[in-house]
Amino acid sequence: MTLNLKQKTKKNQGRFFIISGPSGVGKGTLVSAAVEALPQLALSVSATTRAPRPGDEEGVSYHFKSDAEFDELVKHGGLLEWAEVHGRRYGTLSSEVRAALDEGRDLILEIDPQGCEQIKAQLPEAVAIFIAPPSLAELKKRLEGRATEDAASIERRLRTAEVEMGMQNRYNVVIVNDNQHEATQSLLEVISAGLSEQAPADGDPGDAS
Ligand code: ADP
Ligand code: 5GP
Repeated sequence: MTLNLKQKTKKNQGRFFIISGPSGVGKGTLVSAAVEALPQLALSVSATTRAPRPGDEEGVSYHFKSDAEFDELVKHGGLLEWAEVHGRRYGTLSSEVRAALDEGRDLILEIDPQGCEQIKAQLPEAVAIFIAPPSLAELKKRLEGRATEDAASIERRLRTAEVEMGMQNRYNVVIVNDNQHEATQSLLEVISAGLSEQAPADGDPGDAS
């Protein structure tokens, strides 16, 4: 059955935090620190058709899917949102989100700007956070330093990065990940502020279901 985010969050008061930003900017690094520091947060593990890279673990980094399996998920409403990024498909599994909300946990979705738009359309109160690099040159350095993609894939990711950088004004908050410690603190502050806000009660203006 299709997951109605609005109804679910109204019932369980789960808050949603969307993290986007160019590949290699440090999203994974910052999100891991946030999840470690704030145990009530659940990180939604996405489905993807991209191949696992060294260090990736099935069910931890992603749920790795064939094209046919991903097609089935799309067809049967198994994804809350999905998008093609760098030539591969990525999507948020309804089952992941439902499980976290059933446990009364709050969610972090690490998704691209196309996915962010789709979630915001369903749940405008989701807090959207864009992680920006100090410069494209530094981004390139981080991608090369991580050494998980070949040169062609890094080039492709840098081209996508330029497009994504142009979308940061659609986000509630932009954090520049220059100094890692400072960026982690900023992310924790934004999430903590979101968590301490009251969820809108039934009938409030923010409750447009
Ligand atoms: P993403 O999840 O956005 O693709 P990662 O978290 O994998 O990015 O980070 C990419 C690389 O950059 C990793 O090698 C990581 O250790 C490094 N990194 C992350 N934050 C910083 C920072 N503030 N300064 C320098 N290197 C960083
Ligand atoms: P990577 O291949 O580096 O793990 O991720 C590439 C891009 O896919 C990143 O921009 C990441 O945010 C995005 N992404 C990961 N999971 C999802 C998802 O579930 N939905 C969408 N829309 N994008 C995702």
